[in-house]
Amino acid sequence: MQLYNSLTRTVEPFVTREPGKVRMYTCGPTVYHFAHIGNLRSYIMEDVLEKFLRWQGFDVLRVMNITDVGHLSSDADTGEDKMLKGARREHKTVMEIAKFYTDAFFADCEKLHIRRPDVVEPATGCIPEFIEMVQKLLDEGYAYLAGGNVYFDTGKLEQYYVFNRHKEEDLEVGVREGVEEDGNKRNKGDFVLWFTKSKFADQELKWESPWGLGYPGWHIECSAISIKHCGAYLDLHCGGIDNQFPHHTNEIAQSEAYLGHAWCPQWFHVHHLTTEGGKMSKSAGEFLTVSLLEEKGYDPLVYRLFCLQSHYRKTLLFSYPNLDNAQSAYRRLTERIASLLPEANGEVDPEAFALYRGKFGEALGDDLNTSMAVTVLYDVLKASTNAATKLALIEDFDRVLSLGLTEAAKKVSAQESAPAASEEEEARINALLQKRAEAKKAKNFAEADAIRDQLKAEGILIVDTPQGAVWKKA
Ligand code: AMP
Ligand code: ZN
Repeated sequence: MQLYNSLTRTVEPFVTREPGKVRMYTCGPTVYHFAHIGNLRSYIMEDVLEKFLRWQGFDVLRVMNITDVGHLSSDADTGEDKMLKGARREHKTVMEIAKFYTDAFFADCEKLHIRRPDVVEPATGCIPEFIEMVQKLLDEGYAYLAGGNVYFDTGKLEQYYVFNRHKEEDLEVGVREGVEEDGNKRNKGDFVLWFTKSKFADQELKWESPWGLGYPGWHIECSAISIKHCGAYLDLHCGGIDNQFPHHTNEIAQSEAYLGHAWCPQWFHVHHLTTEGGKMSKSAGEFLTVSLLEEKGYDPLVYRLFCLQSHYRKTLLFSYPNLDNAQSAYRRLTERIASLLPEANGEVDPEAFALYRGKFGEALGDDLNTSMAVTVLYDVLKASTNAATKLALIEDFDRVLSLGLTEAAKKVSAQESAPAASEEEEARINALLQKRAEAKKAKNFAEADAIRDQLKAEGILIVDTPQGAVWKKA
């Protein structure tokens, strides 16, 4: 398999330290709000990568953190803790919102068929590990105490800016709104490992440490959690492209200083999902969630297909017309698979199976070319082999693509054989739609939502279009 490595900026053969075994780390969500579909693009593409590695026969250990403390409003060390802001917004405690949004994140993942990593570790569960790591960095001269905080000294490294995208001048603080120079830092790139003093003294969660009551910086979380579960050598580290700097740069600096050797040779970064308004983010701009897509009548797996149709190293522009195209493609795909189901009982042709399996592996082995892999799926549908072979290939590919293709096709078949809605039934649903439109006009959203829920329970989805609401069977 060939994969682009952000560290060397080239497409390279994928290698592992131990033959057949992959230790893979993923930066998890900061659980102060729902994940938006941009965040989920990163997790979908990482999921495909993980599943493709397993499909090839690798034994994968995948570890993910949950950031429930220490991620400040700016990725640099300024601003308030995002978790605290979230808690205040909702009049809850930090731990309450962490639990709520962690559960919400995994519920979204389930809808998108994103596999739960083998290890999921909240940062607040690893305070002793962070303290041990910071202490060693202090003992070995890679860290210093200033103004009550412990800082990493980037001046001690031969090369700090490993991804080479940032120069020291770019870190000039003051140019970005709301970011103030931290006079404690010896070098501009230095970052906080442990806070005891911050402008925001009301930090809710604090722990005893050798340097006083405080809390960890965000970056140390991922280094310590990765080393705790994957050991001193990692094979593959993943995240969204915005994590490259400063987060991953800092992870590398502190992990390698702590371990005394190179840590992770391969870095996989997913580029952003944007809207016409720019990059999607939790703190600004339009905030699209999986639930919102569902409310608008889209199956979350349509969004998964939408992501797979483009390469992870390209910015992906989200728009409803683009999503509608993916929806039509998903429907056509499942209808064609449904038409194969009645002939499913034949013998699988081993030659054709091996041929198309090889093509699929080649597509994904070429820097995870998911859109090409989807094309191979279409090629299978068009191939001259029998239905049993096609269905076996589709199931095999879907171990990686996870589009729920066979299940969706079975639903299509069931619907096709079910009697169409009677005229009476149609009239009743249309009357409910009318009632809902009136309720919305009168701003009686509770009633409007109750009608939507009632129809949903009957397997009928309402889709809001610019021309008004329409309905369809789920
Ligand atoms: P956060 O919950 O903010 O820590 O982000 C979770 C993951 O989503 C990280 O890997 C980010 O790099 C990634 N991410 C953030 N915004 C986007 C976006 N617009 N498109 C794709 N990935 C994103
Ligand atoms: Zn991380």
